[in-house]
Amino acid sequence: MRTGDETVIFPEGPDKPPVIVEALCSGEAICVKKCPYKVIRIVNLPEELESDTSHRYSVNGFKLFRLPIPKDGQVLGLIGPNGVGKTTAVRILAGELSPNLGRFDDPPEWDEIITAYRGSELQPFFEKIQAGSLVPILKPQNITDLPKVKDLADRPISDLLESSDSSGRLNELKDDMSLNEIWDRPIKFLSGGELQRVAVTAAIVREGDIYFFDEPTAYLDVRERLRMARAIRKLSSLGKTVVVVEHDLSILDYVSDLVCMFYGDPGVYGIVSHPHGTRVGVNIFLDGFIPDENMRFRDTAISFKGMTADDEEYLSREAMVEYGDMKKSFEDFTLEIKGSRVSKGQIVGILGANGIGKTTFVRMLAGDLEPDEGEAPKKTVTGLELKISYKPQYIPADFEGSLRMYLRAAGGNTIDSADFRTSVINRLGLENLMDHMVPDLSGGELQRAAIAACLAREADIYLFDEPSAFLDIEQRLVSSRAIRRHVRNNMKTAFIVEHSILMADYLSDSLVVFGGIPGRSGSASSVRTLRNGMNTFLKEMGVTFRRDPQTGRPRVNKDGSKLDQQQKASGEYYYVGKV
Ligand code: ADP
Ligand code: ADP
Ligand code: MG
Repeated sequence: MRTGDETVIFPEGPDKPPVIVEALCSGEAICVKKCPYKVIRIVNLPEELESDTSHRYSVNGFKLFRLPIPKDGQVLGLIGPNGVGKTTAVRILAGELSPNLGRFDDPPEWDEIITAYRGSELQPFFEKIQAGSLVPILKPQNITDLPKVKDLADRPISDLLESSDSSGRLNELKDDMSLNEIWDRPIKFLSGGELQRVAVTAAIVREGDIYFFDEPTAYLDVRERLRMARAIRKLSSLGKTVVVVEHDLSILDYVSDLVCMFYGDPGVYGIVSHPHGTRVGVNIFLDGFIPDENMRFRDTAISFKGMTADDEEYLSREAMVEYGDMKKSFEDFTLEIKGSRVSKGQIVGILGANGIGKTTFVRMLAGDLEPDEGEAPKKTVTGLELKISYKPQYIPADFEGSLRMYLRAAGGNTIDSADFRTSVINRLGLENLMDHMVPDLSGGELQRAAIAACLAREADIYLFDEPSAFLDIEQRLVSSRAIRRHVRNNMKTAFIVEHSILMADYLSDSLVVFGGIPGRSGSASSVRTLRNGMNTFLKEMGVTFRRDPQTGRPRVNKDGSKLDQQQKASGEYYYVGKV
């Protein structure tokens, strides 16, 4: 216990954030208990890490330990939750940010930094970046600022891309990235997904030596993600070095040769793991335990069942609801839906491009939109009134009140039950946000709040439209797990729109697959088995998946590999056989 010396001081006055004098802090976290705003976190770290500090933003600010090391001619994938320093590391390696080795008040010069990394592969790396003999190209995480850049907003994308094309790769990429339809459109009119495709293309077509892609599949649909992964792989086949930050595990698995994990306490500190080969790295990540560092960073392992023919089992289960064929037309868009029957405990994934009618389908099931032909189900097969709980894609944040009030308005006393608290509220990391006002929540917090509210409602069918949007990989895994558990245990039914193949596999036992032309016409299949639905979808994409023998998770085959050729020849695009 400290007396006399002040461990917590208020240099800017009592109503401004305090500074904790870390050298005096006993680590007993007295101030954490005293702080009325729950803003102080005290974290004790192994002392040997201190010498590995690569960057610190400010006093008591976020601290990054170690750095990932890019390997010549290979793709290094970076994975981890938000707020543990992935972007910081990328900006350092791309030469945008000088690592201060923790000395934010007295930052070292470059020669000192290079000396600090003596003996590591980072020493020659930084030397080359400084000398300009290694040219870095960066696709930043945040692309929504692009249209705000003066002189850029009004220019058509063709203008921007042609002036970036120092490599001559643009022509080839135009088709792969579906840029033809938006070729003359000014940047300021682009949607999130279109902007992402333009930003990634602009990076790939510039001639450089090492390419950084910070979250390149954000805003992209499942088809676009696979195409993006191919384009990045192609860059590596030209001998370029690549670093990719990615939250879609199927895509990370596909593009990477090596994987580094980031773990720590979001916003407080982050540690970079040693690199692992991709298969092992992703398995370690799902397992939540890094054996060579004896480090557990998640208390539960994420396991895949490794589908067998039993995935057709639900067909024999008790039916929940049946719906007939439906049609809906808007001014420029027509949608046709094949009728189906779903069982109790069944979880249906919905897979398809953007603008193909997924939300329209879900809204019709929700009773939010009337079909022009056919009818949305109103009753269960046993004739009871059908109760539906719906999480829309765009979540209104206009609720006037705290998160607790928001969840109570949805689920009443359910939210106080021990089971709901542990398996939903705590799992989704909402317990410390319960008294926050809903309009103040961030995108990811609001998404998790809406998922919890949807599950809190008593219903027969749960509808989730893109529940992974704005969530990091860790949150995607835990929210998928919470949804799966809740729906299965209570023998309910769910429909979930999902763009990650791995997550769709983890979540669902069956699929509705959309085909058609985005923005013009769409058609939804009946509810198929996972295997059948994936096969149809992947065949159209020309991509095959196998299963990892150890974990049963799906893995993309590299284009033209032996397995890829074999599976294409036998028409088994999604291998589900016994593992
Ligand atoms: P990630 O990419 O893993 O989400 P970031 O590297 O973006 O993580 O951020 C890690 C932490 O550093 C966050 O808490 C963030 O708020 C903080 N941070 C990032 N950039 C700055 C900055 N320029 N100044 C101060 N803090 C920052
Ligand atoms: P997805 O969810 O697959 O991205 P949507 O169902 O949201 O697709 O939209 C499919 C198409 O229908 C899009 O071209 C969209 O612009 C159009 N659309 C959706 N809702 C309406 C509406 N209320 N009026 C007119 N067009 C609409
Ligand atoms: Mg980031």
